[in-house]
Amino acid sequence: MPTVAGQRKIYKQLGVKAVDSARVRMANGCAEPPALQWIADKVRAGERLSVADGVALYQTNDLLALGQLANSVREKLHGKRTYFNVNRHLNPTNICVANCKLCAFGRKPDAPGAYALALEEAFRVAGQNWTEAVTEFHIVGGLHPDLPFAYYLDLLRGLKQRFPHVHLKAFTAVEIAYFSRLTRLPIREILVRMKEAGLGSLPGGGAEIFAPAVRRVICDHKIGAYAWLKVHRTAHELGLHSNATMLYGHIESVEDRVDHLLELRRLQDETHGFLAFVPLAFHPAHTALAHLPETTGFTDIKNIAVSRLLLDNFPHIKAYWPSLTPQVAQVALRFGADDVDGTVVEEKIYHDAGSTTPQGLTQQQIIRLIRDAGQEPVERDTLYRPVKRTETSVTVQM
Ligand code: SF4
Repeated sequence: MPTVAGQRKIYKQLGVKAVDSARVRMANGCAEPPALQWIADKVRAGERLSVADGVALYQTNDLLALGQLANSVREKLHGKRTYFNVNRHLNPTNICVANCKLCAFGRKPDAPGAYALALEEAFRVAGQNWTEAVTEFHIVGGLHPDLPFAYYLDLLRGLKQRFPHVHLKAFTAVEIAYFSRLTRLPIREILVRMKEAGLGSLPGGGAEIFAPAVRRVICDHKIGAYAWLKVHRTAHELGLHSNATMLYGHIESVEDRVDHLLELRRLQDETHGFLAFVPLAFHPAHTALAHLPETTGFTDIKNIAVSRLLLDNFPHIKAYWPSLTPQVAQVALRFGADDVDGTVVEEKIYHDAGSTTPQGLTQQQIIRLIRDAGQEPVERDTLYRPVKRTETSVTVQM
C-alpha cells in the first residue's frame, strides 16, 4: 500500500489532483489502487473522465475493481438487460484495391478465393435459410476497382424489395468515402442516394485506430480519422444512426486507444448519432502482421470495461462474440458490455483471419449465454427497439 505521499506522486505523474476522500480511503486501507480510487470517485460523482484517467484505467491490472466500476455504469444504464439481434452478414465482394496489413479478408482480383457476387447471387445468399426472424442485414465488403456505384444502390433496392422489413446496416465509412472518390460525388450526396435506396444505418468498421503513425503501418491506404469521422458526422446529420469500432491488440499504445475513444466521445457530444461502440480484438492469423501475438482475455475484457467508462455518452457497449469468442463475450457482460451482437449466420472477416468461433449462433444459444450470466435477454432491432415475437408475428416496439 503506498503512503499518502507516494499516492500524491502517482497522481502528479498522471496529471491529476488528489482529493480528500481518496486520501481518507487510502489511509483506511481501501483495496483499490490509488488511481482507480480517484477515478471511481469521479465516476460515482458523474464526472467525465480525462485522458490521464483513461491511461490509468488501461494501466491497472486490478481487473475486478475496473470491471465492478464499469458494471456499475452498465447497470445504471440498462439494469440486467442484455441486448441481441437476429441478423445476417452479407459480404458482396472481398476484392479490394487497398492492401491493409491488418486484413485477411481483402483479395486482389486475380488472387485465389477472390469473389464479387452478381446482384442475383447476392439476393440468393441473403435469402439462404431465410426465416422471418431476421431483422437486420449487416453488409460490408472490399473496395472493388470496377463495380460501379449503381451496383451498390441496386443491391440496397433489391434487398429492400425482397425483404422489406429487414433493416439494412450497410457499408463502412471507408466504403462510403471510396464511393465518393469513384463517383466524384460529395459524401453527403452518396449517403442521400443510399438512404433513398434503402440504407438504414452505418456499421462502425474501418475506424481501426485513429493515430496516424499506427494507421500508416496497419492500413496505409485507408482514409484517416478526419474522413472517417466526417462520414459518420454527415450520416448523423442526415438522420442515419451508426456504430463505432476500435481495433486493438496490434501495435497501438494505450495512449492511442484513449485518444481514439475520446475522438469518438467528442463526435458523439456533437451529434448523438452513435448507438453502440464495438471494441474489436485484432486477429493476426493470415494477415501481414501474423508475427504479432493474439490478444488475451485480460486485454479483451479490459477494453470493454475502459470503453464503458470513457464513453459516457454512448448508450451501448457491444461484446462482439465473433471477435471475442462467445465465452469471453459472456464474461464481458459483467464488465461493462450490454450487447452481444447477433446470430450473424455467416461471418467471413474474422474467419478469414483464422477465428475458430462458430460462424453463427442460434437465437437459443445467445439467450442461454445471456441467461447464464444472470441477465435478461432482450431481442432488439438495429435501432435498439425491443422486438416482440409470437409464433405467427414479429413486432418492433416503437
Ligand atoms: S481492411 Fe477493408 S479496405 Fe483494408 S484490405 Fe481489407 S477489405 Fe480492403
